[in-house]
Amino acid sequence: MEIKQAEFLTTVADSNILQNTKNEFAFVGRSNAGKSSLINALTRNSKLAKKGQTAGVTKNINYFSINKGQVTFVDLPGYGFHKAGRQEEEKWATTLENYLLNSKNLRCVFVLVDSRIEASNNDLNMLKFLNHYQIPFVVVATKCDKLKKSEYQKSRQKVAFSLALGESNVILASSTSKEGLKQILSLMDNFLK
Ligand code: GDP
Repeated sequence: MEIKQAEFLTTVADSNILQNTKNEFAFVGRSNAGKSSLINALTRNSKLAKKGQTAGVTKNINYFSINKGQVTFVDLPGYGFHKAGRQEEEKWATTLENYLLNSKNLRCVFVLVDSRIEASNNDLNMLKFLNHYQIPFVVVATKCDKLKKSEYQKSRQKVAFSLALGESNVILASSTSKEGLKQILSLMDNFLK
């Protein structure tokens, strides 16, 4: 897929998800995994999604219209922010679950994990949830520019192992060096067919 145009659509809270969109691709992962950066890199618009937002702000769902609405990117709230407290965590879980179970135009979820860190229980639970409800997903190991080339294979193995996946299910990517972005866009094409 070639992204020719991208713009911020809206922010929603709780259960007010959009149903009049086309072809949604959602991005999920713990806070700081690199969701906003990836959305900006894919759209080549460094200001589209706000990077490094604090937990309070990122509990909402942000929608972006791609190619005049032919595709929609959805930035889901980051999970596992240790400072947020249990009540906030539960609220996010409800928001996430509601989005994932009720979005009729959802094509695929990109689950982001940091390529330098082993996936967390939250990541594992997310994949279990997606598997259980048969929601298509792809794991993206982010920030691979911080790895040496010689560490790529090990990182992919580590992430795949910690999530009980085959290595081929993990894409190494970097919003800085742009590695893996073409692969992500071409995967999106497969889901649009
Ligand atoms: P989010 O909370 O998941 O939306 O994460 P952000 O996109 O805000 O990124 C968190 C931090 O990681 C920021 O300081 C980013 O600049 C940094 N970051 C994100 N992606 C990359 C990447 O591919 N390479 C490097 N080196 N840093 C990144």
